[in-house]
Amino acid sequence: MNSPNRFADSPFSASRQPRLNRTKTIATVGPACRSVEILQQLVEAGVDVFRLNMAHGKRADHEAAVANIREAGRRSNYPVGILIDLAGPKIRLGQIATESMTLETGATVYFVAGDVPGASNELTCSYQNLTSEVAVGDRIMIGDGIVRLNVESTDGRRAACRVVDGGVIRSRQGVNLPGARLGVSALLPEDIEHAMWATTIDAEFVSLSFVRQASEIRDLKSRLRNQGSLAMVIAKIEKREALDHLDDIVNAADAVMVARGDLGVEIEIEKTPLAQKRIIRTCGRYGKPVIVATQMLESMHTHRFPTRAEVSDVANAILDGADACMLSGETAIGDHPVEVVRMMRRIQVETESALQGRPSRDTGYGQGSPQVDDSDVTDAVMMGAALLARRADARLVVIASSNAEAAILKSKQRDFIPTIAVTDQPKMVNRMCLLWGISPLLIESIQLEDLRNRVCQWAKENDSLKSGDRVVFVADTEMWPGIHDTIMIWSIP
Ligand code: PEP
Repeated sequence: MNSPNRFADSPFSASRQPRLNRTKTIATVGPACRSVEILQQLVEAGVDVFRLNMAHGKRADHEAAVANIREAGRRSNYPVGILIDLAGPKIRLGQIATESMTLETGATVYFVAGDVPGASNELTCSYQNLTSEVAVGDRIMIGDGIVRLNVESTDGRRAACRVVDGGVIRSRQGVNLPGARLGVSALLPEDIEHAMWATTIDAEFVSLSFVRQASEIRDLKSRLRNQGSLAMVIAKIEKREALDHLDDIVNAADAVMVARGDLGVEIEIEKTPLAQKRIIRTCGRYGKPVIVATQMLESMHTHRFPTRAEVSDVANAILDGADACMLSGETAIGDHPVEVVRMMRRIQVETESALQGRPSRDTGYGQGSPQVDDSDVTDAVMMGAALLARRADARLVVIASSNAEAAILKSKQRDFIPTIAVTDQPKMVNRMCLLWGISPLLIESIQLEDLRNRVCQWAKENDSLKSGDRVVFVADTEMWPGIHDTIMIWSIP
C-alpha cells in the first residue's frame, strides 16, 4: 500500500533519533534562532512547536522565520508545528523620547492621549481611551509589573499617576491595569490581519492573548474556519476575568496556555502557582492540551545553567499535568538557545520517570462539563487502551484517526508505552506535535489491514519490535463514526 519512504517519518525509523521525552517543548523564535541551521539544531534538541510572537517583529521577519522553520523540520525529519501568537488587547507604552527612562519612586508622571508625549514626564500608550477610562485609584503596571503607578486624577485627556515603585521603562513595554474594566476590544484590526496571515501559511496553532470570555475564542475560531484553517485555537489565560470564566473558555478553546508573565501582573503574583494548578486541572476535565509558559528557564538567557528553582518549576509543571513547556526570551533573544532546549529535555525525561507505572488516570474528563457529543466514549476507550497495553505488556499503541481528538484524550492518560497517532490527513500531523507522549505519523491509509501489515513491516525492518511483541490498536468503526469504539491487540508474527 504505502511507499516505504513515507515511513521515514516513523518514530522507529533510523532516520531520526526517537524522542525520549514525552512532554512537548515550544520555543519562541527571535533574532537568536532565526536561521535554518539554529532552528534545525533546536528541533533536534527537542523543540516540537515554534512560536512567532506577533507583538514583536515585522511581517517580513515572520515570513522568513516560517520558511526557515518548515525547512528545519524537513531537514531534521521531525514533525514541527507553528504557533502564531496574536497580541490581542495588550496595551503597550508609546515611544519614549530616550532609549530608556527612569521613573523615580514618589514622582508624578502623566499618561496623555495621542502618540507623542509633550513633556519629559508624559507617557503615551497604544490604547487611546486609557486616559478617559481609568479611574482614580486604578493601578498601572509597566514592564511585567516592575514599575507601578497609581492613578491620582484624570481629566479625560491627561491622567496624573504617582510612581509607587520606580524603575527603568522602555518604549513598547507592556502596560497592565489589573482589575480595571477597559473597553478595549478582544481582537484588534492587526490581530485579525495576523490571524488571516496565519491561515495563508497553514499555521497549526493560533493563540489569543488577554482572553476575557469564551465568545472571543469562538469569534477567532470562526474567522479561521471561514478561511478553511484547521488551526488549533489556544486561549492564553492571563487575566482575572479569564479565571472567572475559566470553564467556558477552556470548553471553547482547542488548547490553553498558562501565560504566567502577564497573569503574574494581573493577579497577585503569589496566586499564580495555585492558578496554574487550577487551569491544568480544568484542562484535564475538558480533555484540552495545556501549555505552561514564561520564565521557565529565565536565567539561561545569559547563563549556561538554570537555577535550582527554575528546574523545580519545570518539573512541577510536568507533575501538575502540563502537556508542553514554553520557552520565550530564552530561545528568542538568549545567549544559549540550543542549550536551554537540551536542559528542558533533561528535566522532562527525569521528571517523567516519576509518572511511569502510575495506574491509568481518570482525568475527570466530562465531569461537570456540558458534553455536547459522545467524545466521553472515546475518553473511556483510551483509558481502557492504556490499561490494556500495560496489563498485556504491549510495546506499542497505535491510534488511527483522521483528526486529533482521540490522540488528545490518549495523551491525557500519561501512559509510557510508545504511542503513534497515525493519520491520513497531512494537515493533522503537525497539530499533534503538542500532545504529551504522542508521536504523530502521516500515512496514506488508516484502513485496518493496511495498518496491521505496516506495523508488522516496521517490526521486520528495525529492532523496535520483535516476534511475539504485542501492539494495542485503537480505531473507530463505521458503526460509530468519529468515536473511537474499538480496541484490538495484535501479536507480531
Ligand atoms: C505571558 O504573558 O506569559 C505570555 C506567554 O505572553 P507574552 O510572551 O506575549 O507576554
